[in-house]
Amino acid sequence: MRIATGCIGHETNTFSSVPTTIDDFKRSYRIGDEIISAFRQTSTITGGFIENSEKLGIQIIPLLWTFATPSGAVEQEAYDTLKGEFLDHLRNAGQIDGVFLDLHGAMATEEIEDAEGDLIRSVREIVGSLPIVVTLDLHANITAEMAKHSDTIIGFDTYPHVDCYDRGVEAAQVVSDIVRGNIRPTMAYRQLPFLTSPPAQCTMKPLMSGIVERLHALEAEPGVVTATLSMGFPFADIRDAGVSVLVTTDDDQQLAETHANEFAHYIWDIRDAFNLNLVSVEEAIEIANQSEGQPIVLAEGSDNPGGGGPCDGTIILRKFIDADVQNAVIAIIADPESVSLAIDAGVGNTVALNVGGKTIPLHGEPVALTGYVKTISDGAYINKGPMARGVRNSLGRAAVVKVGGVEIILTERRVQPIDAEVLRSVGIEPRDRKLIVLKSAVHFRADYTPIAHEILEVDTPGVHSPDLFSYDYQKVRRPIYPLDTAVEF
Ligand SMILES: [Zn+2]
Repeated sequence: MRIATGCIGHETNTFSSVPTTIDDFKRSYRIGDEIISAFRQTSTITGGFIENSEKLGIQIIPLLWTFATPSGAVEQEAYDTLKGEFLDHLRNAGQIDGVFLDLHGAMATEEIEDAEGDLIRSVREIVGSLPIVVTLDLHANITAEMAKHSDTIIGFDTYPHVDCYDRGVEAAQVVSDIVRGNIRPTMAYRQLPFLTSPPAQCTMKPLMSGIVERLHALEAEPGVVTATLSMGFPFADIRDAGVSVLVTTDDDQQLAETHANEFAHYIWDIRDAFNLNLVSVEEAIEIANQSEGQPIVLAEGSDNPGGGGPCDGTIILRKFIDADVQNAVIAIIADPESVSLAIDAGVGNTVALNVGGKTIPLHGEPVALTGYVKTISDGAYINKGPMARGVRNSLGRAAVVKVGGVEIILTERRVQPIDAEVLRSVGIEPRDRKLIVLKSAVHFRADYTPIAHEILEVDTPGVHSPDLFSYDYQKVRRPIYPLDTAVEF
C-alpha cells in the first residue's frame, strides 16, 4: 500500500500586519526522504504516521512538507508556488492508494480565506476517489469545503498539543483501514456560531478536560471511527472562524449526523463557561511580591508568536523595569539588531540597546536601556518537555542581557518558548527565578505546570490578545457568540 503525504502549514493571524512570505516557509521546507529523516522518532504528527505506517505495511511516498511560523496573511504568490510544487510532487508520485495530509487548518492567503479547503479540493481533483485522510490542529477553523473533499478529518484532542504523535498513528490506521476495505468512512460536520479564546481552550483545565472525556466516550460508541471538536483560531477574521464538530462513522451517515448534532449542542449549552480570568501586569507583580513560592509564570498570550504575535512586545518589560522587579526573566524578545549589538559588546560588558517594539505599535515601543551582557548562545536546543519532544529547534543567535533584576532573552528568531529548554539553553534554570514571562498562551503549560508555583494569564494588548472584544472583526459570520447577544444555534 502506497500512501502519499505532506504538508503546507500555517496558522494565519489576519490582525497581524506582518505578511508571511516564501522565505518563512523555506526554513522548514523538506521534500522526499528529507521528510522521513526529519520526523522519524519525533513526537509529531508525521512522526507518528511514519512509525505506524511501518507497522501496518504502508509505503510512505513523502511529497513536500513545510510550515511557517504563524504571522499575517500568506502572500498569494508564496501559496501558489508551494501549492504548485506540492501538486507536481503528487502527480509524479506514481501509483498510490491514498493521501495523508498533515495540515493545520487556519491558513489564509491574501486572496483565499480557506487555503486548506482550496488545497484539499485540488488534491481531490488529482486523486479522484482515492481516500484522503487529514489531520488538523485543535485551532483549525474547519470549513464545509475541507469536510467535503476529505474522507476523514482527525483533529487534535489536546491543547497544549501533546497528542500529535497519537493522531499521526491514528491517521495511518484509518487510511490503512479504508484502503483495505475494513471501513467506509462517512462524516458529519457542524459549525457553531461560537468564538473561543486560547486560554479557555486549554485541555489541562477542568472545563476542556471534561469535554475531551466526553469526546472520547463518543469515539467509543459502536460505529464511530473518530470524532473531532475543533476550538478554532479566533485571530483569523474569516467567515468560518470558530468552533466546529466532526463525527466520522463507518458507513452510517445518519448516525454521524445524530452524534455531531448532540455533541455540538452540548458544547453550545455550556458556552458561558468559556470566560477568562485575566490579571493586569501590576496585579501579577503584586501577587509575586506576596508569594513565598516560585516561579510565578506570566503567560503573555497577546504576544504569542505561535499564533502570530510579533514576539517583540515591550509592555511587560517597561513595567518590570519601572517597578524594579527582581529575579525575573522575559522569554523571549525577538530582536536581531539587539542580539548583534550584545554579541559585539561581548559577555561581561555593558551595552546600550533599544529593545523590542519594532514590529506592531500595539505591542509597545522600543525600550532604551543599558544592560549587562550575561550570556551569548547559538540558540540551539532540543525540546525535552511533553510537546514536540525530541524536535531540534533554534532561537537563532541569542543573548541574555540583564537590566536591574530583569534578564531579557534576546533572540534572532520568533519562537514560542513552550519548552523550559529555551531558558536552560541560555544558562537560566527556571526554578531559580521568581517571575518568568512567557510569550505563550497555553502550550508552555505542558512543560511548566510541574515546575510553576503559580501561572497567571496576563492582560496586555496585542494581535493575539485573549480578549476577543479588543478586535474589530469585519469578516466573521454574524451573529456569533460572545461578540453578539441573542445568538441562536
Ligand atoms: Zn494549535
